[in-house]
Amino acid sequence: MKQSSNVSVGEALAIHGGEPVRKTLLPYGRQSISEQDIEAVAEVLRSDWLTTGPKVAEFEEAFAAFAGARFAVSFNSGTSALHGAAFAAGLAPGDEAITTPMTFCATSNCVLYQGARPVFADVSSDTLNLDPEQIKSKISSLTKAILPVDYAGHPADLDAILKIAEQHGLTVIEDASHALGGEYQGRRVGQISHMTTFSLHPVKHLTTGEGGMVTTDRADFAETLRRFRSHGISSDARARQSAGQWQYEMVLLGMNYRLPDVNCALGLSQMQGLTENLARRRAIAASYAEQFAGVQGLILPAVRADVNPAWHLYPVRVDAGQLTAGRAEMFRALRAENIGVNVHYIPVHLHPYYRERFGYKGGEYPVAESAYEGLLSLPMFHAMTDEDVEDVVRAVGKVVKYYAAGFHRT
Ligand SMILES: *Cc1c(COP(=O)(O)O)cnc(C)c1O
Repeated sequence: MKQSSNVSVGEALAIHGGEPVRKTLLPYGRQSISEQDIEAVAEVLRSDWLTTGPKVAEFEEAFAAFAGARFAVSFNSGTSALHGAAFAAGLAPGDEAITTPMTFCATSNCVLYQGARPVFADVSSDTLNLDPEQIKSKISSLTKAILPVDYAGHPADLDAILKIAEQHGLTVIEDASHALGGEYQGRRVGQISHMTTFSLHPVKHLTTGEGGMVTTDRADFAETLRRFRSHGISSDARARQSAGQWQYEMVLLGMNYRLPDVNCALGLSQMQGLTENLARRRAIAASYAEQFAGVQGLILPAVRADVNPAWHLYPVRVDAGQLTAGRAEMFRALRAENIGVNVHYIPVHLHPYYRERFGYKGGEYPVAESAYEGLLSLPMFHAMTDEDVEDVVRAVGKVVKYYAAGFHRT
């Protein structure tokens, strides 16, 4: 193969001054808010309860029913939901919790909030989810919990992880911030792990502005989560008012992590579009998979048997061995075409805070680190039109064709 990198094939890339595929930037993810959502919020603003009122329990019940869990406890962010779950699992100084480096830093930070130590284990190269064999190699007498992440919306290897947890008496906190509506062996995410956390940030499947949720089948976890999110107090203000009582008891050291009624009304209204939203994301993923099949230099996200991903992200990997450009150049070229690609994630242990505190130098988690070198998230959100999807396909095709040129031509 002869490399002739300045041979240009087809249209000029926008990064070289050519016409961009789109006039305006298509983001990698964004919310959609309906008039009905706005009306639902306005109604709460006119009511008696802005914070913990009737919409909180209504939203939690609807969410628990959707996930197929006994309990859902709302929080004011996905991060505070993770903190609550780490607290309820009893993580404390001296403990360790095993998690993945291929995530947003909030997953491992919640272990640090409890004074415990996050221990990373490497991922499987197909799904970029925690590799059960790697988890086993990291278990010590100090391990108390495992925090798998359902990367991009593809459920983690939950059966294997729960089996390891059972053998060692560990709690599984699944960070399903990407996976609301995802299915694993016919079961919905949210009813499988001991606790499952969700984020309700605007780029996720369902939004409350900021917000989070923990689902669980365990009444003791649900009670601790409810107390922890409200200063460790054992009853809420509305219950006290309706019982005509002034007395309250603080029974543990909690936070103020409550999700207001205003936000719960938005979440409740958003739930009505959730099934359609998931179907649309799956259709977009299917369209990408079909149109990118066989494209040189692109590795598409893998889907394991018996899994139905929720497709929060559509992360492809650039195979630098097949192209004359690496991920960084592909990223710039696609941005110039007005395709809002992103990168998920810089492996957590490579962030300065983790390097400085724990002495990571890079090289500790080779599968995650090498995947990161090629990762590029293409736009994926339910309000994308067919034209938006076509723009992504055209732009990726145009850019890949250019950078593959040196390998095609003799
Ligand atoms: C979005 C996200 C979070 C944090 O959620 P916030 O609601 O932004 O606090 C945690 N973990 C993962 C994997 C996420 O994608």
